[in-house]
Amino acid sequence: MPISDRLKPHIDFLADSLMPGPYECLFCEEEENVGEDGLCDACREKLLYMPNPIYLQPLDGITVGLRYTEEVAACVMRFKRYEQTEYAGFFTQFLSVPEEWHADLLVPVPMHPVKRHIRGFNHSEVLCAYLSHATGIPYTTELLFKTKLTFEQKKLTQPERRRNIRGSFEADSLVKGLNIVIVDDVFTTGATVYECAKVLKRSGAAKVYLAAVTSPDR
Ligand SMILES: [Zn+2]
Repeated sequence: MPISDRLKPHIDFLADSLMPGPYECLFCEEEENVGEDGLCDACREKLLYMPNPIYLQPLDGITVGLRYTEEVAACVMRFKRYEQTEYAGFFTQFLSVPEEWHADLLVPVPMHPVKRHIRGFNHSEVLCAYLSHATGIPYTTELLFKTKLTFEQKKLTQPERRRNIRGSFEADSLVKGLNIVIVDDVFTTGATVYECAKVLKRSGAAKVYLAAVTSPDR
C-alpha cells in the first residue's frame, strides 16, 4: 500500500493537534522543510513498511507499520528516553487497528509502578493515548498490570525472556468478553506481549491483538 494511503486516516488529526510546527525532521533532525508526517522528503524515501509478522496463540492478530531501520530505531530511543510527544504523533501514523478486529479497548504494555515512577512515563501508554484519540477506541491502564519487577528483556536470550517475564502480569476480570488491542512500539520476540495476551485470555478476554509501530526482520 502506498504511503499516502496509509497516512491519510490520521493526517488531519496529526496536523491539528500533534505536530506543532515549525520543527525539524524527526529522522535526520536537520532538515526544516518537513511534511505533516514529520519527515523531510529525503527521509520519507527511507520509510520501509514491514509485512505483518507471523503470530502464535494466544494472540489473535498482529499489525506492524514500519520496518525497524536504523532511523526508526533512533526515533524509538529518543521517544523512550525523552518522551518527546512529536514521536508519539509520528508513530501513531503507523499503528493500525483493522475493522474486523471489532476492538473494544486499547491497552498499553504495562510497566511496573516502580519502574514507571523512575522513568516518569510509560511510552506504550503514550502511544495508546494517541491511538485512542486517532481511532476513537477507548484505552485504559486499569485492567492490565505489571505486578513483578523483571530484568530488561533486550539483554536476554529468547528462552530467558520467556522465563523472566512469566507470571509478571495480572489482568482484571472486567476484560471478560472484550476484544482487546495491546499497543506497543517494537515487536521483537513477542515474549512480553504473549505473556500479556495469556493473562488477558485467562481473565476472559474474547480476543487479544497487537498493534505495533515497528518490527525488525527475522
Ligand atoms: Zn530528514
